[in-house]
Amino acid sequence: MTSTSSLQAALSQLDPAKLEQLSRTIDLPALLNAAAGLPEGQLRQLAGAVMAPQKPAKALPEPNGDFFGLLNTLTPAQREVAAAARRFMETEVAPIMNDHWSRDEFPQQLIPRLRELNLLRRIWNEDGSRTPDASVVEGLLTQEFCRVDVSTAVFFGVHAGLAAASIALGGSDAQKREWLPKVLDLQVIGAFGLTEPEGGSQVSRGLHTTARRDGDAWVLNGRKKWIGNSTFSDFTVIWARDVADDQVKGFLVRRGTPGYTVEKIQGKIALRMVENGEITLTDCRVPDTDRLQNAPNFRTTADVLRLTRAGVAWQGVGCAMGAYELALRYAQTRQQFGKPIGSFQLVQNNLVHMLANVTAMQTLCLRLSQMEDAGQMRDEHAALAKVMTAARCRETVALARETFGGNGILLEHGVAKHFCDTEAIYSYEGTNEINTLVVGRAVTGLSAFV
Ligand SMILES: Cc1cc2nc3c(=O)[nH]c(=O)nc-3n(C[C@H](O)[C@H](O)[C@H](O)COP(=O)(O)OP(=O)(O)OC[C@H]3O[C@@H](n4cnc5c(N)ncnc54)[C@H](O)[C@@H]3O)c2cc1C
Repeated sequence: MTSTSSLQAALSQLDPAKLEQLSRTIDLPALLNAAAGLPEGQLRQLAGAVMAPQKPAKALPEPNGDFFGLLNTLTPAQREVAAAARRFMETEVAPIMNDHWSRDEFPQQLIPRLRELNLLRRIWNEDGSRTPDASVVEGLLTQEFCRVDVSTAVFFGVHAGLAAASIALGGSDAQKREWLPKVLDLQVIGAFGLTEPEGGSQVSRGLHTTARRDGDAWVLNGRKKWIGNSTFSDFTVIWARDVADDQVKGFLVRRGTPGYTVEKIQGKIALRMVENGEITLTDCRVPDTDRLQNAPNFRTTADVLRLTRAGVAWQGVGCAMGAYELALRYAQTRQQFGKPIGSFQLVQNNLVHMLANVTAMQTLCLRLSQMEDAGQMRDEHAALAKVMTAARCRETVALARETFGGNGILLEHGVAKHFCDTEAIYSYEGTNEINTLVVGRAVTGLSAFV
């Protein structure tokens, strides 16, 4: 067989549909004529190339932010709860989150789905006690929620953490009996109102909302800012200063109580799917039976915040993990200069830096939660974890966003939402500065608070 006919034979083995497609862009007869004029050796090479079996594309590893397999060190029940949360986030939340994030709206349809998952009873018992591995479970849930969407974790954390803990730690037995079963089943949704327009970091000292006893009721006056879920919550825990003894007390203010109004905060650049409200209390009467009976001063408020701070540290883990996995997948597939960008050394350097951050954060938080479940966690442990994870998360999401080039600022690629949401994580439940001062005071024995 001549080399020309061997080339023709090779071409004849090609898929006719593909040949037809090829002939639309290349003049095949002219190509064969030109090939006929080539020296014998070159023709053979050409025929060999056409007949060479196609190499299957190399399978690349799936992105996995749990690089050291921390999940494998946990119990089957803990792994199951993490898997359920992951399924829920990927199938129910991911398809709708960008739309709701853009519209500043929480998707109410998620509440019945969360109810079916029955997650709160993995954290709380109905009598207000915690399950033996509550903090680890809460951490895993937070990680899995934030890996896809931080707003979902914040909705859950405000209700299942701050609001539930206020009743569990500050409520009487009768109040726990009345509220906790409904809270754990998400039949009622809670919010937590501590921060005020003029009182964020200094809220323990500078809380201006007042409570005045009037017969068998209390009259509340003041304003609260940033209160998550409050635009639709069934009750909000309002922390107010008793004018008689100057102590901060907690009140369960039910939706629709006269004198209680909420306005949704607009124009956020982070956590847009969380509905944060600004609350105004004007001569708002609350029966004494709705005052948290075992919350006589700010110590109870601080206990609630301590209990939930580990969960906020886990938010940084999940958010950074999600951003890293998105960046890695993009780097494996985005081609520039004829190669995946993940094959460039500088891009790999960023990916490895992100993974090191995620791994360090995840390891620290698991240890923190184990300490919390064992009753060994102190304020400074939670504060250090929050400082470290918020800062590393900020660094990680910035590198992840950078990996996407211009696409990194488009909501549709996912990483932009992680980038923006991190700014809120950095500032709430104690800013990084305040948590740093808490750790500094513990390790030096000297307070740097003004
Ligand atoms: C999205 C979001 C959701 C929130 N949800 C809730 C909620 O559900 N319920 C609720 O009660 N609150 C909520 N908050 C409020 C949050 O806890 C406060 O924003 C936080 O405590 C910081 O207070 P601030 O914003 O008033 O900042 P400020 O206290 O005014 O601080 C401004 C800056 O000054 C620094 N600073 C202040 N004091 C010191 C100091 N002594 N030394 C060094 N630096 C200092 C801070 O670190 C910060 O950088 C939420 C906030 C956000 C952003």
